[in-house]
Amino acid sequence: MAPFQNPGRNRRVSTAESKMGIGGLLKGLLPYVTPYRWLLVATLALTFIGSLMAQVNAVVLDRAVDRINALLHLDGGFQWPDAARILVTISVILLGKEVLAALITFGQRIFGEKIRIHVSRDLSLRVVDRILQFRMAYFSQDGNEPGKLQTRIDRGIMSLSNTVKNFFIDILPLFTSAVLALVLMYAANVYVGLVATAIIPVYFWITAVQGRRMKGWRHRVFGTHQQLSHGILNIIESMGVIKSFNRERVEAAKQAALQEQSTDQQMQTRRISFLYEGLKTFVEQIGTVLIIILTAYLVLIDYPGMTIGKIMYHVLLFANVSAPIRQLHRIYDDLNDALVYAEGFFGILEAEQEVEESGKWKVESGERVRGCFELRNVEFTYPSGTHALRDLTMTILPGQTTALVGLSGAGKSTIVNLLDKFYTPDSGTITLDGIPLHEWDTRVLREQIGLVLQKNHIFSGTIEENIRYGRPDATREEVLEAARKAYIYDQVVALPDGFNSNALQLSGGQQQRIAIARMFLKDPPIIFLDEPTASLDAIATEQIKNSIDAIKQGRTVIVISHNIGQIIDSDQLYVLDTGHCVQSGTPAEVYRQGGLYKDIFDASARSMNADKIAETLEETSR
Ligand code: ADP
Repeated sequence: MAPFQNPGRNRRVSTAESKMGIGGLLKGLLPYVTPYRWLLVATLALTFIGSLMAQVNAVVLDRAVDRINALLHLDGGFQWPDAARILVTISVILLGKEVLAALITFGQRIFGEKIRIHVSRDLSLRVVDRILQFRMAYFSQDGNEPGKLQTRIDRGIMSLSNTVKNFFIDILPLFTSAVLALVLMYAANVYVGLVATAIIPVYFWITAVQGRRMKGWRHRVFGTHQQLSHGILNIIESMGVIKSFNRERVEAAKQAALQEQSTDQQMQTRRISFLYEGLKTFVEQIGTVLIIILTAYLVLIDYPGMTIGKIMYHVLLFANVSAPIRQLHRIYDDLNDALVYAEGFFGILEAEQEVEESGKWKVESGERVRGCFELRNVEFTYPSGTHALRDLTMTILPGQTTALVGLSGAGKSTIVNLLDKFYTPDSGTITLDGIPLHEWDTRVLREQIGLVLQKNHIFSGTIEENIRYGRPDATREEVLEAARKAYIYDQVVALPDGFNSNALQLSGGQQQRIAIARMFLKDPPIIFLDEPTASLDAIATEQIKNSIDAIKQGRTVIVISHNIGQIIDSDQLYVLDTGHCVQSGTPAEVYRQGGLYKDIFDASARSMNADKIAETLEETSR
């Protein structure tokens, strides 16, 4: 199925979509940064020292040039020892400064990275914590599909931690250095300072134009890139279908078209980017030339304080002023990304209304519920808009087995979803042992219920870990006993690694039995079986049926199955048609009523070729 879907409908991201401002972004980030405030203070202190060090070259060269110049103009020529002293002093200061600067940069980067990595970890932990609390309906909403949610979380964490890094490792040191350099320039000569300042708005303007032209392109490149990687993933996942339908060429052609699009987009962004980068370098050079001309002119007219050394001094300082501005564009882009992605990310963290509700009603520890569910006039619509249950009234009797029958899509699994409090009904009431479901402590309620679905989730891990999921504190003997009851023990011990084998390598039917073993281990008073033997072979089905029949005793069981054999010996039966209960009673009573159940029953018997089976059985027994 996967290769035929259109993977291209990614959330188009642009600044226009983002409602979050920089203030909101920083405010959202603040609680995650404050635990590291001492690290921040240390980083800032190092940043400031680093910025001071960045100006040392200019100051040293200024002095050195002037001293050497003075030596050259001494009457009667200079003495070599004097010249050597100057050179040694320059070397010691410059090399010493480099060593110190390297240490400071190292410290500052390490501290900055430590903050970034820790903030990223805290954000991940918080978001996982959060989504685990969300109600099931959240995950059925449009836009919250696993892939999209994952992208939103990954991108959010990445761009938010990048913001932290940009701010503390890149922007702050560069801008502090730029401001210091400007102050020094003004202190030496106001006119040179003014020329350097005049270049800054031109830079900002070019960056803004570049930002406007690049806007959209970067996200288009990102979108295509996502499609490409999704596409490859889809191909790998669907290899069997692709090969059996001989669709290799079609899939390759789809990828080729995307690659072409990606190449064009990348070239276009590079073209725009190089054009503006070139322009900025040109403006920077103009600035440098203007500063050389101005300082040289001031030296020539003997302006007070202007010596030959000042030409070098100002040129080097100007380089410190223009360096951060050259980075503006990248920072602008990153910030735009962060604004867009942070919005989606903080949206997840702040979705208080999505947190699963829990009542306070508990059973005493060790006490078991009776298991009497009553549904009265229940209406339920999924967040997608499917009206799944209509005016549904039914009673699930305690200690008995109730079968839910109906065609696919009739709403049988939805009932189980509501009884497990995965969803809340739109109207009507559901009670367990007379207590409304919403008053029940959700954890306590779910402890009472064992759920076996048609497609059970097997976690990556060993078979033992997967069975133990039902009750983490179970002894090994209890785990093995559960496996025996689910008729999986013999097959597991035959594997090279036994119960330590990877559970994901088991077949569908074996995984089903792992899920049943998990339920046996949990040993709950209420059991919901939603097509529990759908992927089992006939022998396994019979074995599991026997185990389930044994565990059923004294428990409330709801069984959903298309297999008539599994429902025929239930105590009561409800027949559902498009979310509505159309028949109820014991299986024999309902069959006698005729209607949908009889249709399903008869069709099932015919499809099983029941007459022929009976004939064969009769012949062989004769
Ligand atoms: P049954 O178990 O009888 O086959 P379900 O209870 O699974 O039927 O489904 C009832 C209706 O609700 C169907 O139309 C189905 O498409 C829809 N439905 C089931 N699960 C969801 C979901 N998570 N989100 C949206 N619609 C759903």
